[in-house]
Amino acid sequence: MPTLTAELEQLREKTRLLCTGFPDEYWRETDRNRRYPQEFVDTLTEAGLLSALIPAEYGGLGLGLTEAAVIMEEINKSGGHSAACHAQMYTMGALLRHGSDAQKLAYLPQIAAGTLRLQAFSITEDKAGSDTTSIETEAIRDGDDFIITGHKSWTSRIDESDLALVLARTSGKPDGKGADKTYGLTLFLVDLRQVRAEQADTLKVVKVRTMFNYATNQIFYQGMRVPASAVIGDVGKGFRYVIDGWNAERILLASEAIGDGYWFTQRGVDYANSREVFGRKIGTNQGVQFPITDAYMKVRAADMMRYEAARLFDAGEPCGAEANMAKHLASEASWAAANACLDTHGGYGFVDEYDVERKFRETRMFQVAPVNNNMIKSFVATKVLGLPRSY
Ligand SMILES: Cc1cc2nc3c(=O)[nH]c(=O)nc-3n(C[C@H](O)[C@H](O)[C@H](O)COP(=O)(O)OP(=O)(O)OC[C@H]3O[C@@H](n4cnc5c(N)ncnc54)[C@H](O)[C@@H]3O)c2cc1C
Repeated sequence: MPTLTAELEQLREKTRLLCTGFPDEYWRETDRNRRYPQEFVDTLTEAGLLSALIPAEYGGLGLGLTEAAVIMEEINKSGGHSAACHAQMYTMGALLRHGSDAQKLAYLPQIAAGTLRLQAFSITEDKAGSDTTSIETEAIRDGDDFIITGHKSWTSRIDESDLALVLARTSGKPDGKGADKTYGLTLFLVDLRQVRAEQADTLKVVKVRTMFNYATNQIFYQGMRVPASAVIGDVGKGFRYVIDGWNAERILLASEAIGDGYWFTQRGVDYANSREVFGRKIGTNQGVQFPITDAYMKVRAADMMRYEAARLFDAGEPCGAEANMAKHLASEASWAAANACLDTHGGYGFVDEYDVERKFRETRMFQVAPVNNNMIKSFVATKVLGLPRSY
């Protein structure tokens, strides 16, 4: 566990207080209507929390990943859903670590001030799936520009974003036969305001309705023209920059799952302490106590791994193993807590006004996206344990 400094506790308290303005009814309504929780995102933005990772010299809070993790955890622990705004934290790293000074100066102060939104990253494709190095969306050089054409099966929050990170192929074939499969992909920071104003027909967005409230879409890039100045870092090395952000992404996502895990255990305990059947509180029965307790211990263990991963990340030390394990452990723990909570509520767990079924649907995603737990197991098996790679 990290030393829980007064600053970290203050940040936790600040986030908690902001979240009290968005009670269960709010999240229930946005979920029912599949509505983007704009008011919540605005509140967080105005409080500066979404600029946590932006250095102070650009107007951000200049905090570390540990602090960002605490913000994400508190949102989910309050019953909220941080998916509406988490990408701004996840994707920032690519711009911070690999963007040019000109890109940073052009965008970071405005993102920090809340006048510009970087909420979308456009990577996954239908055919390639988890095998990102075989994506086929192309970016072809044309004078001072690149022209992007292709289809992305998932790109969340693009309609709620002014900027998007788009990964496209600038060279090589997606046949996996190259010496370095990762070479040939380029990362673009696309200014969607310019696209919408001047070439709206090159960007087709098709909304995808999912089992929970997630502003996600299929995207068709139809000859979208972006200036060469939109390239992040070097042409051809974009996949490396994406990978570079994965540890932060996994740690933040683990934090969201941990927040959910605490929410589920607390709701389960509260209900078990109040509901009476057979003339006694249901929480008296060990058949009810034990699954909640089991899940709680899993959440606590994941919490520690998450803090360890964040500590290493903030110290600039390798943390791939810990970040991946934290994501895996946290997503499995929150799912165990979700099931225990649902079972504890009996039939009422299925009724929307109890909010359990909503959080149940939300927390299931952590096992699947942005990376599947199978892929995490493969990473730990091969990179940590030295077992042979299967793909
Ligand atoms: C709600 C939601 C929002 C999303 N938002 C975005 C977004 O904003 N931007 C973006 O780029 N992407 C986004 N994604 C995509 C997400 O990153 C992918 O779903 C994820 O990477 C998995 O890819 P896939 O769905 O194609 O699964 P597949 O790659 O088709 O995998 C299917 C199953 O097969 C398993 N599998 C495949 N290969 C192996 C193997 N070698 N060993 C073991 N198991 C294997 C997988 O683990 C999985 O269980 C989103 C997804 C969801 C669900």
